[in-house]
Amino acid sequence: MIFQSRFNKHTFVVRPTRVAIDPVHGVRTPLPGLIAEFDRFTRLFDSEDAQQKHGWSDEERVAVEDWLLGNKAFGKDIFLAPGELQKLDEATVAKMRVKPAVKVRRCIDLRIVKGQVFQCDQEATAGRDYCKAHDPQEPRIVKGAVEQK
Ligand SMILES: [Zn+2]
Repeated sequence: MIFQSRFNKHTFVVRPTRVAIDPVHGVRTPLPGLIAEFDRFTRLFDSEDAQQKHGWSDEERVAVEDWLLGNKAFGKDIFLAPGELQKLDEATVAKMRVKPAVKVRRCIDLRIVKGQVFQCDQEATAGRDYCKAHDPQEPRIVKGAVEQK
């Protein structure tokens, strides 16, 4: 996932570096933290590149992505790079602090049930006003000989 910052060398400490001390031998082992550092020139942060570079596990990479998506700077100082939004699934969009303005074009088929008007809740087919099921121009395959009412 590629993020873009408004600032050069924007850096976020997602998890600080800690030192584990072996209680028996007193051996100090550094536990590397998770740091998201945006490129100085492009102002981009590519979580997959960072994963490779720092040897993060997939869980650690996702933790960094989620942290950035949910951060208060998201939508203000940091954004998703152009084109990234199209790749996201719903679960990821749900984690975003600022939700993308995705306007879903709904099928315009209306039906009246008990005096109330209901609009079809399906998404309209690209370039059409109807979903596949309601499009009058869509060639129809009717199951059985008679369409059930
Ligand atoms: Zn429809």
